[in-house]
Formats: sequence, C-alpha cells, structure tokens
Amino acid sequence: MIATTTHNLASIGEFGFIARLRQKLRDQAGRADVVLAIGDDCSACTLPAGELLLTSTDLLIENIHFRRDWTSLYALGRKSAAVNLSDIAAMGGTPRYLHLGLGLPQDLVLDELDAFCDGFLDECRAAGALLCGGDTCRSQTGMFISVSVQGTIPADQLVRRSGGQPGDRLYVSGTLGDSALALHLLQQGQTPAAALARRHHQPTPRLALGRALAAAGLAHAMIDLSDGLLADLGHILQQSQLAACLDPAALPLSVDVRRHLNHKPEDLDVVLRGGEDYELLFSAPPEAAPRLEQLAVRLALPLTAIGSLQPGEGLWLCRPDGSRQPVEARGFNHFQSGQPA
Ligand code: ADP
Ligand code: MG
Repeated sequence: MIATTTHNLASIGEFGFIARLRQKLRDQAGRADVVLAIGDDCSACTLPAGELLLTSTDLLIENIHFRRDWTSLYALGRKSAAVNLSDIAAMGGTPRYLHLGLGLPQDLVLDELDAFCDGFLDECRAAGALLCGGDTCRSQTGMFISVSVQGTIPADQLVRRSGGQPGDRLYVSGTLGDSALALHLLQQGQTPAAALARRHHQPTPRLALGRALAAAGLAHAMIDLSDGLLADLGHILQQSQLAACLDPAALPLSVDVRRHLNHKPEDLDVVLRGGEDYELLFSAPPEAAPRLEQLAVRLALPLTAIGSLQPGEGLWLCRPDGSRQPVEARGFNHFQSGQPA
C-alpha cells in the first residue's frame, strides 16, 4: 500500500520508498530482457550474445555537484541518469540497465522525492534503459546519489580514448560552454538565460551519436565532455600518445555564449576549461568528413571540426594566421584547491 497522505521520507520509510519506486516502474514490468528487477537481492538481466558488458558509475554529492536551491529535483533526477548514460555514449554502446544508490535526508518531502524519481525514470525511458535496483539509506548531510549504468557493445565496435591516429580531425557535437557559463553566472549570483540554465541542469547524453559513430566505425577515439574540453582532450592525447592543435575560432558556441563573450572575451577560459557539456569529442580520419556531415543532418546535431591530432606531445591553440600558443590540458579537478563548489 502506498502512502498518499504523508509528506516526507521519514513517514514512508525505506520500504515505502522502494514500493513507490516499483509503482512508478509498472509500465516497464514486462521487459523480456529483465528476469529480476527491483525486489530481490540482485537484479538478473540478459545480455545480447557475444557483446561486451560496459559498466560505469558516477557520484553526485549535494553542494559538490549540485545545489538544491539552484536546481529542480526533477532536473536533478534527469541529470543523475544523463551523466551516467553519457559514459555509455562515449564508448559507442547501447545503455540497458541502471542501479541507483541514494543517501537521503529524512526530511526530504515526498513531492521532491517523487520529482527526483520521475526525472530519473524519464531519462532512463528516453534512453531505452531500465532502473533495475539500488540501495537507499538515510543521510545526515544532504543528498548522495550514486548511479551505475550497464550497457553493451559488439566487441569490435568499442571506441576507446586511446584510438586516435595522427592526422585525425577532432570533432565535437553540439555547442560548448553553455553549462559552464550557466554555473559561472550562478556562482556570481546572476541568473543565466533559460537555455544556458537548461544545458547545465538537464544535459542530454549523445547516445544516438555515439552508437552511430561506433556502428559505422567512423570514430578512432572518443570521450564525453564532463571535465572540460581541454582536460578531456588531454585524456585522449595522453592515451593515444599524440599532440593536438585546436582552432579557438572554430569552437561551436551558442548564441548566449557568443553574446556573453562579446562583452567578456576573457571568459573564453570558462568555455575551454569549464565542464559538464556532455557533448562527445571524437577523432576521425579526414575521409570520414562526408559521412559525418550526413550523420549530423540525420541526427539534427551539429558536428564541428575544431582541430587535429598530430604526432608528438602537447596541446596548442592554433590560429588561422599560423600562430601557435601552448595550453595546459587542464580543467575541473576535484582535489585541486581553488575549484568552484
Ligand atoms: P538488500 O537488503 O538486499 O540490500 P534492500 O532492502 O536494500 O535489499 O532493497 C530491496 C530491493 O529494492 C532491492 O532489489 C534493491 O535493488 C531495491 N532498491 C533499494 N533502493 C533502491 C533504489 N534507490 N533504486 C532502485 N532500487 C532500489
Ligand atoms: Mg540495501
């Protein structure tokens, strides 16, 4: 029996919450690939024969990754699933099953808890993935959200960070810096434009793009942009043992970011180093260009060439006039001092 007249988590308890969650998942109960979902000691799911199992985990901690006064709980639920699904996209995989660990303050009101779960489940549904289990505990210091996602991929399609080749072009999907600029403005006590705020609070995992690139063998190396363009490109360079040139004038920027940079050009660093775009950064050989153009049209998602991979070591901003400026492949790092909360 699901409580409807009570108002916070303490009044329904752990098992009341789990019952509530199962109720929300009624429409997914008949999935043939899921033998056991929520309710037993483990979930039990089937995997396509011969495919690799992809698994990734992300942690979202209140006042480190999000502030409850800046986000709706619905958007937070969506984002908790989305950032995890983005890791599956970055390998080129198909997302299938999620598990959700929650540390929750017991005074969390049920409307907020419901909004969080609805957001999480809507994001899972949009990805064709199913929440199959988790764990729920009381927290005395804010919300803790730990999400694990499992996906699958044919072994010969896996796209790693290490696959870059000299001469590859570097591409990025969508636009860069919207999320970081929204956060930057929030931290200064300003209200970001709605489109920017949405990109920060409710990012979109680029699952169709990742899958299409992997299936067609178009991408040599790929990563999702969570820590910032320069830092994440740095991971590709380190693991592919290559150098890169980036053309700052080629970076795809939204109208809002452009407008902001017109007033404050010094904030280009926010765009280059800021995190949480959840776009895909990938390298592809020059001959892939026509097929990438077709793919961008089919997915209605811009794919922009922003530079190239080269032999050697290092990262440069290369301008059309031929000038080269070395930059550090650094972005967000949790254990560095002076980073924003
Ligand atoms: P156990 O004692 O084996 O850890 P629990 O009593 O914690 O089991 O959980 C009961 C069932 O509810 C399990 O199937 C578990 O996966 C599921 N569950 C608990 N919390 C969550 C959650 N936050 N999200 C999804 N499923 C959950
Ligand atoms: Mg448990």
